Amino acid sequence: MPVTVPPAPQPAPTPGSGTDAASFDGRPGRLDGFGRALRDLRISVTDRCNFRCTYCMPAEIYGRDFAFLPHEMVLSFEEISRLAGVFVDLGVRKLRITGGEPLVRRDLPQLIGQLAMLRTPDGEPVDLTLTTNGSALRALAGPLAVAGLQRITVSLDSLDDEVAGRMNGVDFPVSRVLDGIAAARAAGLTPIKVNTVVRRGLNESSVLPLARWARDEGVTLRFIEYMDVGHSNGWRMDDVVSADEILALIDAELPLEPVAADYRGEVAGRYRYRDGAGEIGVIASVTRPFCGDCTRARLSADGHLYTCLFAATGLDLKTPLRAGAADVALSEAVRSAWSVRRDRYSEIRSQSTSALPKVEMFTMGG
Ligand code: SAM
Ligand code: SF4
Ligand code: SF4
Repeated sequence: MPVTVPPAPQPAPTPGSGTDAASFDGRPGRLDGFGRALRDLRISVTDRCNFRCTYCMPAEIYGRDFAFLPHEMVLSFEEISRLAGVFVDLGVRKLRITGGEPLVRRDLPQLIGQLAMLRTPDGEPVDLTLTTNGSALRALAGPLAVAGLQRITVSLDSLDDEVAGRMNGVDFPVSRVLDGIAAARAAGLTPIKVNTVVRRGLNESSVLPLARWARDEGVTLRFIEYMDVGHSNGWRMDDVVSADEILALIDAELPLEPVAADYRGEVAGRYRYRDGAGEIGVIASVTRPFCGDCTRARLSADGHLYTCLFAATGLDLKTPLRAGAADVALSEAVRSAWSVRRDRYSEIRSQSTSALPKVEMFTMGG
């Protein structure tokens, strides 16, 4: 008989919109059109990357001639920090630096230093973290930690070089990513999370070895269902390995039980090993959408605000910023965009929504 792992309990959604966010989680801010507060900002610092993951930037499309953003279109560190400050004043508590590959942006620790100085209206530091493919982490983990980065998430789809190479598109050796993870641990960027996208026919066989490795290493592993982000990856529902399948694969050898979410808006369903040796997460955007609690906004490298990972358009903040707009005007622009937000793409996903115009994930910030 197949083992069924029940879904992790989720907090109940709050009705109401366009009003004070205190009803959401007791903190200040404004609710969107479905009663969700603005709490997280993902900041893309570049649209470039040294990997060509098949599910994100397939090499056939993103070749040598591909026109990434020219330098002058990309926000400077000062511009990013200023906009981040506006978001923090509006209630954002967590900043995640991403891309593209954030570690290819030159002098990134300088930006981390600037963001680490931000304070919430209550005088608290913000939660500051970063997602990376790990390729440059061995060299940068120390400087990032010294600059004020608190934690890190590393993407790794297999421990097997051949399988990982097929996923990352550039045959990048797993051992160098593992060196990066070791450097992050030594630098105190803990707890370390590892993200694994599972794609049918490519890396299901890597699920259990990764789970065993993460248990031994004390790393929190989070499996991500393959998503129909952008249009480059040729996504098909058949290629999605569901969270249930992933959990059953692990549970058959290492029994699991669900854990309640830590906070509203936590995207990963959490499960712990029944023997007490750690936990894993599943980010099941396809089979168990979590739009009802989505508190995330994204700021692209060229200064556009996106209120959904599957959005077709964003709000241009770079133009008013460069034209000299005051913080209060930028804040008002963000507030009104958030107030009318009614995104719930994953809840209404179908073949026809999948064909709608969408910005690529590496462009808006994954
Ligand atoms: N380059 C960095 C990295 O790979 O960690 C940060 C940017 S990447 C776009 C952020 C995350 O999105 C990674 O963990 C990656 O695996 C995930 N991702 C990219 N494309 C995806 C897709 N089609 N479905 C699910 N996750 C995806
Ligand atoms: Fe690069 Fe990350 Fe996209 Fe892979 S998932 S191509 S590492 S941006
Ligand atoms: Fe949030 Fe859009 Fe993802 Fe739903 S589909 S969880 S609204 S980013």
